[in-house]
Amino acid sequence: NINNNVSIKNKKYFSDNNNSGNNIENYEFKAETKKLLQIVAHSLYTDKEVFVRELISNASDAIEKLRFTQNASSTNIESSVDDEKSVIPFFIKISTDSEKKLFIIEDSGIGMTKEELIENLGTIAKSGSQNFLKKIKEQNDIIGQFGVGFYSSFVVSDKVEVLTRSYEKDSIGYHWQSDGSGTFSLKTTDDIIRGTKIICHLKDNCTYYSDIQNVRKIAEKFAAFVNFPVYIADKKQ
Ligand code: ADP
Ligand code: MG
Repeated sequence: NINNNVSIKNKKYFSDNNNSGNNIENYEFKAETKKLLQIVAHSLYTDKEVFVRELISNASDAIEKLRFTQNASSTNIESSVDDEKSVIPFFIKISTDSEKKLFIIEDSGIGMTKEELIENLGTIAKSGSQNFLKKIKEQNDIIGQFGVGFYSSFVVSDKVEVLTRSYEKDSIGYHWQSDGSGTFSLKTTDDIIRGTKIICHLKDNCTYYSDIQNVRKIAEKFAAFVNFPVYIADKKQ
Protein backbone atom coordinates (compact mmCIF):
# COMPACT_ATOMS: atom_id res chain seq x y z
CA ASN A 1 0.00 0.00 0.00
CA ILE A 2 1.57 3.19 -1.27
CA ASN A 3 -0.02 5.43 1.35
CA ASN A 4 1.34 3.34 4.16
CA ASN A 5 4.77 3.57 2.64
CA VAL A 6 4.50 7.31 2.40
CA SER A 7 3.44 7.59 6.02
CA ILE A 8 6.52 5.77 7.29
CA LYS A 9 8.86 8.07 5.45
CA ASN A 10 10.98 10.48 7.36
CA LYS A 11 9.54 13.92 7.42
CA LYS A 12 11.32 16.76 5.75
CA TYR A 13 10.57 19.74 7.90
CA PHE A 14 12.39 22.56 6.25
CA SER A 15 15.08 23.33 3.76
CA ASP A 16 17.18 26.39 3.20
CA ASN A 17 19.93 27.72 1.04
CA ASN A 18 23.24 28.45 2.69
CA ASN A 19 25.65 31.03 1.34
CA SER A 20 27.54 28.57 -0.82
CA GLY A 21 24.35 27.93 -2.73
CA ASN A 22 24.38 24.30 -1.63
CA ASN A 23 20.85 23.35 -0.74
CA ILE A 24 20.68 21.86 2.75
CA GLU A 25 17.61 19.82 3.59
CA ASN A 26 16.65 19.02 7.17
CA TYR A 27 14.72 15.95 8.20
CA GLU A 28 13.27 14.60 11.38
CA PHE A 29 13.79 10.97 12.37
CA LYS A 30 10.65 8.93 12.80
CA ALA A 31 9.44 8.70 16.39
CA GLU A 32 10.48 5.03 16.78
CA THR A 33 13.89 5.88 15.40
CA LYS A 34 14.37 8.52 18.07
CA LYS A 35 13.40 5.98 20.68
CA LEU A 36 15.75 3.40 19.22
CA LEU A 37 18.61 5.88 19.20
CA GLN A 38 18.10 6.56 22.87
CA ILE A 39 17.83 2.89 23.79
CA VAL A 40 20.87 1.90 21.76
CA ALA A 41 22.96 4.74 23.14
CA HIS A 42 21.92 3.90 26.68
CA SER A 43 22.22 0.13 26.42
CA LEU A 44 25.62 -0.05 24.82
CA TYR A 45 27.47 2.18 27.23
CA THR A 46 29.41 -0.76 28.71
CA ASP A 47 30.09 -2.32 25.35
CA LYS A 48 30.90 0.67 23.21
CA GLU A 49 33.29 -1.01 20.83
CA VAL A 50 30.46 -2.85 19.05
CA PHE A 51 30.09 0.22 16.84
CA VAL A 52 33.34 -0.81 15.14
CA ARG A 53 31.91 -4.25 14.42
CA GLU A 54 28.64 -2.78 13.12
CA LEU A 55 30.31 -0.28 10.80
CA ILE A 56 32.74 -2.88 9.44
CA SER A 57 29.89 -5.27 8.83
CA ASN A 58 27.88 -2.60 7.00
CA ALA A 59 30.92 -1.75 4.86
CA SER A 60 31.42 -5.42 4.07
CA ASP A 61 27.71 -5.83 3.22
CA ALA A 62 27.92 -2.81 0.90
CA ILE A 63 30.81 -4.30 -1.05
CA GLU A 64 29.17 -7.71 -1.10
CA LYS A 65 26.04 -6.09 -2.58
CA LEU A 66 28.01 -4.35 -5.28
CA ARG A 67 29.88 -7.51 -6.17
CA PHE A 68 26.62 -9.41 -6.35
CA THR A 69 25.05 -6.72 -8.53
CA GLN A 70 28.01 -6.80 -10.88
CA ASN A 71 27.99 -10.59 -11.14
CA ALA A 72 24.24 -10.76 -11.59
CA SER A 73 24.17 -8.05 -14.20
CA SER A 74 23.78 -9.63 -17.62
CA THR A 75 24.79 -6.39 -19.24
CA ASN A 76 28.34 -5.22 -19.04
CA ILE A 77 28.82 -3.39 -15.75
CA GLU A 78 30.85 -0.75 -17.56
CA SER A 79 27.76 0.37 -19.42
CA SER A 80 25.80 1.10 -16.25
CA VAL A 81 28.57 2.62 -14.15
CA ASP A 82 30.70 5.67 -14.77
CA ASP A 83 34.23 4.75 -15.90
CA GLU A 84 35.80 6.50 -12.97
CA LYS A 85 33.73 4.40 -10.54
CA SER A 86 34.05 1.03 -12.23
CA VAL A 87 37.82 0.93 -11.82
CA ILE A 88 37.82 1.42 -8.05
CA PRO A 89 38.82 -1.80 -6.28
CA PHE A 90 36.91 -3.25 -3.32
CA PHE A 91 38.31 -2.06 -0.01
CA ILE A 92 37.47 -0.92 3.50
CA LYS A 93 39.63 1.72 5.09
CA ILE A 94 39.64 2.73 8.73
CA SER A 95 41.48 5.79 9.93
CA THR A 96 41.52 8.13 12.90
CA ASP A 97 42.42 11.68 13.74
CA SER A 98 43.29 11.95 17.40
CA GLU A 99 43.53 15.75 17.36
CA LYS A 100 40.09 16.18 15.87
CA LYS A 101 38.76 13.15 17.81
CA LEU A 102 37.60 11.30 14.72
CA PHE A 103 37.00 7.67 13.82
CA ILE A 104 36.55 7.24 10.07
CA ILE A 105 35.51 4.21 8.03
CA GLU A 106 35.26 4.21 4.28
CA ASP A 107 34.17 1.53 1.82
CA SER A 108 34.10 1.34 -1.97
CA GLY A 109 30.83 -0.55 -1.92
CA ILE A 110 27.44 0.03 -3.45
CA GLY A 111 26.80 3.41 -1.82
CA MET A 112 23.36 4.93 -1.38
CA THR A 113 21.13 7.10 -3.52
CA LYS A 114 19.43 10.04 -1.86
CA GLU A 115 16.25 8.04 -1.27
CA GLU A 116 18.17 5.08 0.13
CA LEU A 117 20.12 7.35 2.43
CA ILE A 118 16.98 8.95 3.84
CA GLU A 119 15.19 5.63 4.29
CA ASN A 120 18.01 3.34 5.38
CA LEU A 121 19.57 5.55 8.00
CA GLY A 122 16.37 7.18 9.15
CA THR A 123 13.96 4.35 9.85
CA ILE A 124 13.91 1.22 11.91
CA ALA A 125 12.29 -0.77 9.14
CA LYS A 126 15.47 -2.81 9.15
CA SER A 127 15.12 -6.26 10.60
CA GLY A 128 18.11 -5.96 12.91
CA SER A 129 16.71 -2.89 14.59
CA GLN A 130 13.19 -4.29 14.80
CA ASN A 131 14.53 -7.38 16.53
CA PHE A 132 16.49 -5.20 18.84
CA LEU A 133 13.44 -3.27 19.99
CA LYS A 134 11.48 -6.49 20.42
CA LYS A 135 14.22 -8.25 22.36
CA ILE A 136 14.94 -5.34 24.60
CA LYS A 137 11.43 -5.63 25.93
CA GLU A 138 12.05 -9.28 26.80
CA GLN A 139 15.36 -9.00 28.57
CA ASN A 140 17.85 -6.39 29.43
CA ASP A 141 21.15 -8.12 28.89
CA ILE A 142 21.00 -8.73 25.18
CA ILE A 143 23.77 -6.56 23.88
CA GLY A 144 26.22 -8.19 21.59
CA GLN A 145 23.88 -11.03 20.67
CA PHE A 146 22.88 -9.48 17.39
CA GLY A 147 23.55 -6.40 15.34
CA VAL A 148 22.19 -3.11 16.53
CA GLY A 149 23.42 -1.51 13.36
CA PHE A 150 24.38 1.94 12.25
CA TYR A 151 22.90 3.72 15.26
CA SER A 152 25.56 2.21 17.51
CA SER A 153 27.84 4.92 16.10
CA PHE A 154 25.93 7.45 18.22
CA VAL A 155 26.96 5.62 21.38
CA VAL A 156 30.45 7.05 20.92
CA SER A 157 29.72 10.12 18.80
CA ASP A 158 28.37 13.63 19.34
CA LYS A 159 27.93 13.90 15.61
CA VAL A 160 28.06 11.44 12.70
CA GLU A 161 28.65 12.40 9.09
CA VAL A 162 27.90 10.01 6.23
CA LEU A 163 29.19 10.74 2.73
CA THR A 164 27.85 8.35 0.16
CA ARG A 165 27.53 7.94 -3.57
CA SER A 166 25.73 5.13 -5.29
CA TYR A 167 27.53 2.96 -7.83
CA GLU A 168 24.81 3.80 -10.35
CA LYS A 169 25.74 5.84 -13.38
CA ASP A 170 25.42 9.62 -13.00
CA SER A 171 24.56 9.41 -9.31
CA ILE A 172 25.29 12.37 -7.07
CA GLY A 173 27.20 12.24 -3.79
CA TYR A 174 25.32 13.07 -0.58
CA HIS A 175 26.43 14.27 2.80
CA TRP A 176 24.19 13.19 5.70
CA GLN A 177 24.80 14.58 9.16
CA SER A 178 23.18 14.12 12.55
CA ASP A 179 23.85 14.53 16.25
CA GLY A 180 21.49 11.63 16.89
CA SER A 181 19.04 13.73 18.83
CA GLY A 182 16.17 13.55 16.37
CA THR A 183 17.04 15.31 13.13
CA PHE A 184 19.46 14.92 10.27
CA SER A 185 20.53 17.15 7.42
CA LEU A 186 21.33 16.37 3.84
CA LYS A 187 23.30 18.17 1.16
CA THR A 188 25.18 17.20 -1.98
CA THR A 189 28.92 16.62 -2.02
CA ASP A 190 31.68 15.92 -4.54
CA ASP A 191 33.94 14.45 -1.86
CA ILE A 192 33.19 10.82 -2.58
CA ILE A 193 33.53 8.84 -5.80
CA ARG A 194 31.79 5.56 -4.99
CA GLY A 195 30.73 3.97 -1.73
CA THR A 196 30.33 5.34 1.75
CA LYS A 197 32.47 7.22 4.23
CA ILE A 198 31.35 7.53 7.83
CA ILE A 199 32.98 10.11 10.10
CA CYS A 200 32.34 9.70 13.82
CA HIS A 201 33.00 12.84 15.88
CA LEU A 202 33.83 11.13 19.15
CA LYS A 203 32.47 12.19 22.50
CA ASP A 204 35.06 13.47 24.97
CA ASN A 205 34.89 10.22 26.95
CA CYS A 206 35.28 8.08 23.82
CA THR A 207 38.53 9.41 22.41
CA TYR A 208 39.94 5.91 22.94
CA TYR A 209 38.62 5.23 19.44
CA SER A 210 40.62 8.02 17.85
CA ASP A 211 43.85 6.24 18.78
CA ILE A 212 44.86 4.13 15.80
CA GLN A 213 46.57 1.46 17.95
CA ASN A 214 43.42 0.87 19.96
CA VAL A 215 41.32 0.81 16.83
CA ARG A 216 43.70 -1.61 15.13
CA LYS A 217 43.27 -4.16 17.91
CA ILE A 218 39.49 -3.98 17.84
CA ALA A 219 39.21 -3.87 14.06
CA GLU A 220 41.49 -6.89 13.59
CA LYS A 221 39.11 -9.03 15.63
CA PHE A 222 36.18 -8.19 13.40
CA ALA A 223 38.04 -7.83 10.10
CA ALA A 224 38.96 -11.52 10.29
CA PHE A 225 35.43 -12.29 9.09
CA VAL A 226 35.53 -9.90 6.15
CA ASN A 227 36.25 -11.04 2.60
CA PHE A 228 37.77 -7.75 1.46
CA PRO A 229 40.97 -5.97 2.39
CA VAL A 230 40.58 -3.81 5.51
CA TYR A 231 43.24 -1.10 5.63
CA ILE A 232 44.02 0.61 8.88
CA ALA A 233 45.56 3.96 8.12
CA ASP A 234 47.13 6.35 10.50
CA LYS A 235 46.37 9.55 8.68
CA LYS A 236 42.96 10.86 7.87
CA GLN A 237 42.38 11.60 4.18
P1 ADP B 1 21.28 -3.66 8.88
O1 ADP B 1 22.74 -3.76 8.52
O2 ADP B 1 20.85 -4.72 9.86
O3 ADP B 1 20.39 -3.57 7.67
P2 ADP B 1 22.06 -1.08 9.88
O4 ADP B 1 21.45 -0.14 10.85
O5 ADP B 1 23.44 -1.57 10.20
O6 ADP B 1 21.05 -2.29 9.69
O7 ADP B 1 22.10 -0.39 8.47
C1 ADP B 1 20.90 0.11 7.91
C2 ADP B 1 20.97 0.18 6.42
O8 ADP B 1 21.74 1.29 6.01
C3 ADP B 1 21.62 -1.02 5.74
O9 ADP B 1 20.70 -2.08 5.55
C4 ADP B 1 22.07 -0.41 4.41
O10 ADP B 1 20.99 -0.36 3.50
C5 ADP B 1 22.41 1.00 4.81
N1 ADP B 1 23.85 1.15 5.04
C6 ADP B 1 24.48 1.24 6.22
N2 ADP B 1 25.82 1.34 6.07
C7 ADP B 1 26.04 1.33 4.72
C8 ADP B 1 27.22 1.41 3.88
N3 ADP B 1 28.46 1.50 4.40
N4 ADP B 1 27.04 1.39 2.54
C9 ADP B 1 25.81 1.29 1.99
N5 ADP B 1 24.67 1.20 2.71
C10 ADP B 1 24.78 1.21 4.06
MG1 MG C 1 24.31 -3.51 9.81
